[in-house]
Amino acid sequence: MAATRTFSIIKPDATRRNLTGAVTKMLEEAGLRVVASKRIRMTREQAEGFYGVHRERPFFNDLVAFMTSGPVVVQVLEGDNAVQRNRDVMGATNPAQAAEGTIRKAYAESIEANSVHGSDSDENARIEIDFFFREEEIVG
Ligand code: ADP
Ligand code: MG
Repeated sequence: MAATRTFSIIKPDATRRNLTGAVTKMLEEAGLRVVASKRIRMTREQAEGFYGVHRERPFFNDLVAFMTSGPVVVQVLEGDNAVQRNRDVMGATNPAQAAEGTIRKAYAESIEANSVHGSDSDENARIEIDFFFREEEIVG
């Protein structure tokens, strides 16, 4: 299968605990390559825009506050079937339901502070990559 791309965020709970390398190692061991990466502090406007599909959910305001509470690392990952491969290594949204060997099982603190984001479709991967990266920042 041809390599595809997905978008990842190492969330503030993970950067706060100095887990950027540990999380990235699990992504790499799952067969994903980091082809773009930068550490940023998301603005409220960015977080609200990025999570716009969740605007009506009861946890939206808390989620925006959490995602802007500290640095995050935004990444473009490349690999065979990258979106699904990344979702598999991330594990379930709620760490209580995440399988052994997944990032969220290993590191997530709660359903909100769950260490990583990953795109849920190829279409959303393209939208999310474009939200944070210019094409020349991505080097495969
Ligand atoms: P995923 O990140 O697994 O794709 P969603 O897209 O459903 O999950 O939710 C986006 C993010 O919103 C989650 O990763 C988590 O940080 C937060 N979130 C989801 N559900 C809840 C909830 N019930 N309570 C608090 N935060 C939540
Ligand atoms: Mg999602």
